[in-house]
This record gives sequence, C-alpha cells and structure tokens, in this order.
Amino acid sequence: MSHRASGKTIGLVPTMGYFHEGHLSLMRAARSENDIAVVSLFVNPIQFRPGEDLDRYPRDLNRDVELALDLEVDILFVPEGTEIYPKEFCTRISVQGLSDRLCGESRPGHFQGVATVVAKLFHIVQPHRAYFGLKDFQQTVVIRRMAQDLNFDVKIITLPTVREKDGLAMSSRNSCLSADERSAARCLKESLDIAVLQIREGERSADSIRTIIRERIAREKLARIDYVSVSSPKSLQEVSVVEGEALVALAVFVGRTRLIDNVLVRT
Ligand code: AMP
Repeated sequence: MSHRASGKTIGLVPTMGYFHEGHLSLMRAARSENDIAVVSLFVNPIQFRPGEDLDRYPRDLNRDVELALDLEVDILFVPEGTEIYPKEFCTRISVQGLSDRLCGESRPGHFQGVATVVAKLFHIVQPHRAYFGLKDFQQTVVIRRMAQDLNFDVKIITLPTVREKDGLAMSSRNSCLSADERSAARCLKESLDIAVLQIREGERSADSIRTIIRERIAREKLARIDYVSVSSPKSLQEVSVVEGEALVALAVFVGRTRLIDNVLVRT
C-alpha cells in the first residue's frame, strides 16, 4: 500500500542537489511537518537553454546522500534523465504571463521546464505538502499558480532565503565563483539592502530604486546586470510606484555565474 493510501502525510522538497543550508532548511520543515519526507534530486535539463550552465552545474551525489541521511529524509529520489523524459516525451506546462517576466525574460522556456518537472514530481510523489525557497521567488509564484490551475491537491509552503554570513544568498552556483567573484557577489544583497533603506526612508519611485541598485552593481568590475526589477509580488508586473507590497529582485552575472536575489518590501 502507498504511504498516502495508508493515511501518512508526505512532504516533498524538489531540488537539483549540491545541498546547502537553504536546501536543508526545506528538508527540516518537510521532516517535521510530515510522516514521510521525500527529497528529489534531479538536474532538470529542460529548464536550461543551450549555452547555459547545465554541464557546469555542481554535483556531488555522495555528499548529498550523507546530508539527506543526517536529516533523516525517508526517500531521496534521484531519477535518471530518461526516467523523467523518455525519448518520445513532448509535453510542456506553460504558466502564461508569470513565466515570461523577470528570469523568464532572460531565460525563455525556463519556467516551462520548471513547471513541467514539478508537475511530474507531484504526480509521482503525490505529496500533501511541497516546500520551496523564497530565494527563487518567481518559481514559487509560478508553481503556486500551476498547482491551483491544474487542481493539484498539494499545499505549497515557502521558506525564507538562507544566507551566508556576509548576506550572499546560498546557492549551489556559489561554488562556481572564484575568490574575487565571491567577494564581488556581495553586491547583490548590498544593493537590495540599500533599496530597502531608501524605501523605508520614503522613496516611492520604482525607477529611482532600480537606479540605486544598478549604481551599486556597476561599481563591481566582475558583475554584469541581467535585470533589476521592482514588481508586484502577485502579478510580477513592473510597477512605477512602490506602495503596499513590492518585490525587489535582480539577476547578476558574476563572471560566468548567474546569481539571483530578492527582497519583499511593504510600505
Ligand atoms: P535548487 O536545488 O537550487 O533548484 O533549489 C531547490 C530548492 O531550494 C528551491 O525551492 C530553492 O528555492 C530552494 N533554495 C535554494 N537556495 C535557497 C536559499 N538560499 N534559501 C532558501 N531556499 C533555497
């Protein structure tokens, strides 16, 4: 009998592996809130475009298995590529509009890939709860919409961004940074902090906030802006005035590595 049929609750944490504290915080929540904690580890090829970092994406399965065991994860699901995408696979899930903004604008097709694999994982694992980090804010918006639109019987739970001591959001990709790049990468969180301070002090022009962030990033030689956004956290559409809730988000290439970060502000 399946765990679900026997009345046990299942929590799922979808990941691409190379675990850090961000992943572990999701696993701990899944562990404590459910009878069965499932973690999936799959570097999903269809969410990468040609020329992106699929081949360079950091991997260390043995270390990940150890960390999952330490946290008493019940099932670590590590499918083969062909298990998820057999040769004849040709379906994509498109969460329209929400997928095209922010990261979707510079990575066309990315969120189709994400929505498709997460839908498959929901079908395979049939979780009661699924856990996602707010570091990937847009992903949480896209997945919530998809789960609602497609009547998935799963509660989407989001947890705060876990950061390094100097503020850099933890990411598997941080391991790709050289020492100089690692130091330059601080500009993401620092520019968000400056933006938050300005908003707290009364700045309401979204353009001024975008400019402040751009100016801080521009001081780093190793950093190149992909986008800087001030948007509605519900629609992800750019706003001109910061009022109520706003999502301040950015993507920056540090060397060849693309990093993202965001902060939710309330006025
Ligand atoms: P990834 O393996 O990068 O695809 O991430 C798997 C899950 O961990 C996603 O829900 C991410 O949002 C989440 N995650 C990644 N980095 C962090 C972080 N620094 N803090 C919290 N959650 C994170």
